Amino acid sequence: MPKPKKRNHRAKKSADRSEKPLSPLEIPELAETTASVQKALAAPAPYQIRNLGKLVASLAAVLIFLVAFELASDIHGLTNSQFDSSPANHKTTLRGQFQTLSQDAKKFKEAEADDEIQIVRPDLIDTRLSAIKTNLDAGNNSQARTQITSFKNDLTSWEQQLGNALVAHSSTVPTEGGIQVPILIYHYTPPDFDAILSHLQAAGYHDITPEQLAAALHGTASLPTKPVLLTFDDGFANQMTAFRLLRKHNMKATFYIIDGGQHSRWCIGASRHYDQHPGCGDAYLNWDEVRQLDRSGLITIGAHTIDHENLATVTPSEQHYQIIDGKQELEKQLGHPVKDFAYPYGGYNGTTLALVQQAGFETAVTTKPGDIQTLAGILTMPRIRDAMTLH
Ligand SMILES: [Zn+2]
Repeated sequence: MPKPKKRNHRAKKSADRSEKPLSPLEIPELAETTASVQKALAAPAPYQIRNLGKLVASLAAVLIFLVAFELASDIHGLTNSQFDSSPANHKTTLRGQFQTLSQDAKKFKEAEADDEIQIVRPDLIDTRLSAIKTNLDAGNNSQARTQITSFKNDLTSWEQQLGNALVAHSSTVPTEGGIQVPILIYHYTPPDFDAILSHLQAAGYHDITPEQLAAALHGTASLPTKPVLLTFDDGFANQMTAFRLLRKHNMKATFYIIDGGQHSRWCIGASRHYDQHPGCGDAYLNWDEVRQLDRSGLITIGAHTIDHENLATVTPSEQHYQIIDGKQELEKQLGHPVKDFAYPYGGYNGTTLALVQQAGFETAVTTKPGDIQTLAGILTMPRIRDAMTLH
C-alpha cells in the first residue's frame, strides 16, 4: 500500500526539520534584521549618534532574543496557545491564520498525492508559505496579511481545480459493456503494411474514423460490421509510404502529429528546423505533407502535443502548453478544428484528462492494450499492435 508510505515519508521529513538548529527560513530573516540595523546606522538623528553603541547593543540583544525564541519554539514545538499568551496580539492573530493556512495547504498536497493529480507545482506552496513566515517573523505584518489573503484565494481555486480534475478522472473509468473496435497502433510503416491492409479487407473489416467511433459510443450513429481504426503516431516522414498504401486500398487512417517546438529544441515534429539541426535523428512529415494528408479525404489528423513529453511527468502548466497550445498550433496549420488526441508514451494523469477534456478533444487514445471501447473511456481508448491477430 503506497499511501501510508507517503505519509510516513512526509512525517519523517518534518521531524528532520524540527531537529535542525537553524532552518533555511531563518536565514533571510537574519539578513533582513541585519539590514534594518545597517539602515538605522546609515541615517541616524544627531542625538542617536551619541548613543550609537547602546543602539547597536540593544538591537543585537533583540536579535539574539528573537533567534533564541525561534530556536526554542522549533526545539520544543511551542503550541498555538503559547503563542496566544504573547503580548503582540496583532501578530498572534496573523500567526494563527498562517497556521490554519499551512494546515489547509498540507491537506491539499495530501489530497493531490492521494488522487495522483498534480494541480500546483510542489515547490510553489512551500516557497509561498516560507515567504509569509519570513515576513511574520520579521514583523512585516501588512505584507504577511496581503500574502495570506492571496494564498487563501489561490488555495480555494486550486481545490476547485482538483475537484474538477477528479470529476474528469472518474468519468473516464471504464464501465461494463462497450463495443469491440480494435484500434491499431503504428509508428513506422510496417514492411508488410500492404499485406496487412489486404488481410483486413479480406477478413471483412471496415476502416472507420475516430468521429464515427465517437458517434457510435454516443449512440448517435451505428458502425459498419467489423469496424477497425488504423492509427499512426508521431508523424514520421516514413508514414508517407503508409499513406500511399492506404490510398491504394482506399482505406482510412488517423495520424497523430507532433507540432515540434522549443522544448524539444526544434528537433522533432512538423515544425522541425531541418536546416539548423541536421543531426536530430528521425525525419518527420513537414506541414505541407501533413496538409496533403489532411486534404486526401482518407486521413484524419489528430494531435500528439508540441514536444512529445510524457504528460504524466510534467507540471500542469507544461501540460496546458503541450495540450491546449499544441491543439491551437495544429488547427492553425490545417485551418480547421482538430478533435482527436494521442498521449505521448501513453502517459497521462488526472490533470491531463481534465485538460484534454477542456481542450475540447472528442476522442483520445492511449497505448494500453485492449479492443473494447466505451463512452466512459472515450478519452483513454486502448489500442492493439498486431493486425494479423484480427480474423
Ligand atoms: Zn508518440
